[in-house]
Amino acid sequence: MDPAQHATLDEIKARHPLQDVAPRYVAALRHTGSHLVGRCPFHDDQHPSFTVHLPTQTWHCYAASCDLGGDVIDLVGHARFGRAWNSHDKAMFKEALADLGGNNLPPLRQPVPAAWHRQQAWRPVELSPHVQMLLHTAARLYHTTLLAMGPGPGTPYDYLRRRGFSHATIRQEAIGYAIGDLLAPALLACGLPLDAAAEAHLLDTERRNREFMIGRVVFVERDRSGRVLHLIGRAFAPTLGPQAPKYLSLKEMAKPLYGYARLDRRESNQPVLLVESPPDALTARQWGFDALANIGTRMKGEHAALLARLKRPLVIVPHNDGGPGLAAAERWRELIGRGTLAELPDGVKDLNEMAARSDDEREFLKLMRALGYERRPPQWARGQSSRPIYTQAMAWAETLLASQL
Ligand SMILES: [Zn+2]
Repeated sequence: MDPAQHATLDEIKARHPLQDVAPRYVAALRHTGSHLVGRCPFHDDQHPSFTVHLPTQTWHCYAASCDLGGDVIDLVGHARFGRAWNSHDKAMFKEALADLGGNNLPPLRQPVPAAWHRQQAWRPVELSPHVQMLLHTAARLYHTTLLAMGPGPGTPYDYLRRRGFSHATIRQEAIGYAIGDLLAPALLACGLPLDAAAEAHLLDTERRNREFMIGRVVFVERDRSGRVLHLIGRAFAPTLGPQAPKYLSLKEMAKPLYGYARLDRRESNQPVLLVESPPDALTARQWGFDALANIGTRMKGEHAALLARLKRPLVIVPHNDGGPGLAAAERWRELIGRGTLAELPDGVKDLNEMAARSDDEREFLKLMRALGYERRPPQWARGQSSRPIYTQAMAWAETLLASQL
């Protein structure tokens, strides 16, 4: 039985005073008055910066670059989860309590190498005005094309609706379709240079302006102001053939952690879901949860570092494909150093497939509730614009370009 469930937090803390626990992690702790002082285990400490204040049973590292602190549970939490530790994350908190209560203290762990944290601070992508305008024009063209093709059987719109996306989601997310021969004329009509489009790998001027996204349903990565940062194409047209990769992101531009640029990154108890593909992420979004898509199974180190630092609970929803999806999710969790796995019910391959079946939204809400999470309160959505993204952002992009001419 879990002893943590039968003792109050204060009782657990009293049973494990910092003077007993801290020496497990801090070598050569010395007494100075009511303090213990030693070298901090959480950074490369040249001077003893780690201090335990015994009367309050709290600790703090006074090195400006580190600045960690808290109570005995925070100490064990930091040992287990490194900088990802978040005492508001129910799953993490439970694990740290179990470590402490079970007298089985975890070894020091730094799941994401410190170098990633130092070098990979997230910055908004800097795009040249031309590339910015190209991405906006392409996103708008693809979205308009998808709508213009209509809802008939076999159309991309029909496909998206059958995959459970509402019309509102399709519009708000400006999901598009690349027929393949419209982008060059559209760019020329806007006075945009084709060679810049070739450099951005939107089209290939040496192959009669063949579009990179041809035959694909196009998902837009954007920031909170609506700025288009990247396009991700999912194979759709049968003419692409079975060899075509399922997902393509634009070459020459770093593959994004889909959804991160617009994520509310303030500390909160609202979970962030981590999934494999943009359709899965948009399904979660439609159901009232923030979600990020890794796009494929391999996770980049800098993305793992971003996720480790995120001060919100992380719920990983693996593909339910009898092995590889779950294995990938466990690798991600290992790399990030935290995260709760939410396994989908039998017979459902991924989140988006759930959306295609009626009633499964309720089943997913039940699954999340079992982990202790509710969907966002409705007032969250009020702050989100219901206008398609390009109408917000085009004006901005056009002003930016005009200033360069
Ligand atoms: Zn420190």
